[in-house]
Amino acid sequence: MNGTFQFLGTGASAGVPVIGCKCEVCVSKLPKNRRYRPSGIIRCAGKALLIDIGPDFRSQALQFGVDSVDGMLLTHTHYDHIAGIDEARIFNVRQKKAFPCMLSRESFEEIKKRYYYFFNADGLSAKFDFFPFDDEMGVAEFLGLDIGYCNFYQTNMKVSGFRVGEFAYISDIQRYEETIFTALKGVRKLVLSALRPEASPFHLSFEEAIAFSKWVGAHETYITHVGHFFDHDAMQAMLPPGFYIAYDGLTLEFQCTN
Ligand SMILES: [Zn+2]
Ligand SMILES: [Zn+2]
Repeated sequence: MNGTFQFLGTGASAGVPVIGCKCEVCVSKLPKNRRYRPSGIIRCAGKALLIDIGPDFRSQALQFGVDSVDGMLLTHTHYDHIAGIDEARIFNVRQKKAFPCMLSRESFEEIKKRYYYFFNADGLSAKFDFFPFDDEMGVAEFLGLDIGYCNFYQTNMKVSGFRVGEFAYISDIQRYEETIFTALKGVRKLVLSALRPEASPFHLSFEEAIAFSKWVGAHETYITHVGHFFDHDAMQAMLPPGFYIAYDGLTLEFQCTN
C-alpha cells in the first residue's frame, strides 16, 4: 500500500524569512527559501494525519489545501510545533467530533497545564481525544494505522518521532540512545531535522544528520527544520547523494506497510 507525506513547513523555529532579517536568504524571492514552521501531513489508507501544528498552521492549511485531517501526531510542545493547536477547532466543527491526537505522556501532561481550557466543556475551544503513550518506543494503533513511535531529547525536552511503514519523521533531535536505531530499522525514507551545516546547541549538524541516517540505513533522507544561514540550492550542494534539503510543499511517496 502506498502513502504520501507532504511537507507543510520546513523552517527553523523563527521560520524563514526571519522577522526583520535582511540577509540574502531572508530577502530571497525563491519559493524554496520561504519556510513555514516544521509540519507535515501523512496520507495512508484513506487517512490524513497531521504532524505538529505550529504557529503557521492556518496559512499552511490554506496554501496546501489541507481541508480535512483525521488526527494528529505531536512531536513535542515547543511553540514552533504546537502554537497553532487552537486552530484544530475547525476540525471539531467540520467533523463534529473531538480531534484525535497521539503524543507522549510528557507532552500530554504539558498540554494539560498550558492548554487547561481544552478540558473545560465551554464549547468555545478546540476539543481533543488524546492518546498518550508511556513507553520510550513501540507501535500503537491509531485511527486504524500502525504508528511506530520513539523518544529522544532536545536539551531536557522529550521529543517523539513517528513511523509509518518505511517512512519516519524525526525532528528536533539532539540527544538519543542507540536503541532508537532498533525502532527505525527498515526505514527507507527518513525526514530528519538539522538546523544548518555547522553544529548547533539544539539540533544536529549536517554531518551528524548524515551519520544518523547511515545508522538507520535510509535510502533517502530529507533535511527539515532548516534556518536562514544558506539558500536552498547552496545547502543541497553540500550534501552527498541520497540526501535532500526539503522545502515546503514537497511530497514523498512511501510504502505504508513493511
Ligand atoms: Zn523545533
Ligand atoms: Zn523543539
